[in-house]
Amino acid sequence: MAEALAGAGPVAWQYAEAHGLAPVDRKGIDLDRWSYIPHADGLWAARSHLTMADVYPGGGYSDRYPLTQVSEEVVRQSLRWLGLELDRDVRLPTRTEWDALAGPVPTCPVCPGPRTAPILRCDACRHGDYVEHFAWLRTNAADGQVRPMRAKWPNAAGLYDVWGNVWEPCTDHGRTVYCGGSVRTQPQQDGSYATRQRPHLVGIRPVFSA
Ligand SMILES: [Zn+2]
Repeated sequence: MAEALAGAGPVAWQYAEAHGLAPVDRKGIDLDRWSYIPHADGLWAARSHLTMADVYPGGGYSDRYPLTQVSEEVVRQSLRWLGLELDRDVRLPTRTEWDALAGPVPTCPVCPGPRTAPILRCDACRHGDYVEHFAWLRTNAADGQVRPMRAKWPNAAGLYDVWGNVWEPCTDHGRTVYCGGSVRTQPQQDGSYATRQRPHLVGIRPVFSA
């Protein structure tokens, strides 16, 4: 039986991970699955992308890989089912919310200055750009194939694969903008991963407001 934790958010999930727990917060939210974004006014975001197992529960599908090849209608239905489960309006993030849940692209605490490619990598960066600790990008997933989720470090809010692996659609004043980049994206020196053209690899990061 999972121990219920008071409060929620990064402190709770860090505690939970350290103690091997799969906790729920007081409102019944699974903290292994959802993370509270303190600086986004009551927003909860899925810590991983939607999977085939989410869309077809009980179908024996993998929950290790993000779902990339389904229609918008199936995605809409899946978000609705998740919402019914939680009794909340589960949806795609807005662009503003995505920026808040992602935060700035992490930069190396050791290398000085802007992320210009250093000739000699420091121990923190090792053989690549520091962002490769958090993201599957073209530079560390050269075959362009989608990687299993949660294989890289989570961001400050406890979210996995925010950058790289698959693009994440967001709503933006009635239009869709795709954020975060994919395994086929080069690291962006200015940290901006966004496009209005539908990319080939798109995964879904559900959110809901508390
Ligand atoms: Zn470095």
